[in-house]
Amino acid sequence: MEKGAVIKHDLKKAPKTGDWGYMSPKVDKSRCSGCATCVPFCPEAAISMVKDPEAKNNKGEVSSFDYDFCKGCGVCSDVCPMKAITMQKK
Ligand code: SF4
Ligand code: SF4
Repeated sequence: MEKGAVIKHDLKKAPKTGDWGYMSPKVDKSRCSGCATCVPFCPEAAISMVKDPEAKNNKGEVSSFDYDFCKGCGVCSDVCPMKAITMQKK
């Protein structure tokens, strides 16, 4: 059976795509459940889960965006079950 994979950038080869968009995601740390659903959906592999003292879930993690590669597509915001990600104008 095939299994999914989260592709990570080879930062030496990947073109930075962060300048393409005019919107940018922002996470509400009090709403993020730490589920990591958003991570594999990002087409730019720009989301990672990080420890954060402001996290309000038992993992102590929230999503974090690499704005050098985030192109502002909003997929992460659409798939977040907690509605924790909002898209804002840059
Ligand atoms: S999908 Fe939403 S709740 Fe889950 S880690 Fe991402 S931002 Fe947090
Ligand atoms: S807006 Fe698009 S590119 Fe940026 S983090 Fe979300 S899913 Fe990835």
